[in-house]
Amino acid sequence: MEKITSFTINHDTLEVGMYISRIDDDIVTYDLRLVKPNNGYFLSTGSLHTIEHLFATYARNTKFSKNIVYVGPMGCRTGCYLLTRNMSHEDAISLVQDSFDFISKFEGEIPGTKKEECGNYLDHDLDKAKEDIKPFLKALQNYKVENLKYQD
Ligand SMILES: [Zn+2]
Repeated sequence: MEKITSFTINHDTLEVGMYISRIDDDIVTYDLRLVKPNNGYFLSTGSLHTIEHLFATYARNTKFSKNIVYVGPMGCRTGCYLLTRNMSHEDAISLVQDSFDFISKFEGEIPGTKKEECGNYLDHDLDKAKEDIKPFLKALQNYKVENLKYQD
């Protein structure tokens, strides 16, 4: 089978940040890399799961709601994917900055964590999530469209 595009990027040189993973017609897939790959620390499933719930909830409650195609975690537990449609890269960067800022300040009940709302409702960790996103939030300060390109 052919190697899919996301396996062809060099994960050894990939740093924490936001990148364009691929563009398929009008759909843009962003790679939100929260931790450096293969560097000894990975998001726990609870942390990543909480980030997913809060990120998706926040993003879908903004004016860009209709532009969000998908928000989801990476199986390697080093980040998330964001798929958008008809949205500028500038707006995508702002949305991600705002979403993760929201997560960093979130208190209370995580949305969608009742038993009937989630497939593993006890597997959440808000404290860890807040801690885990700090390097990403820092990396995204003053982020520009040109920073979205993977570095070689
Ligand atoms: Zn869930």
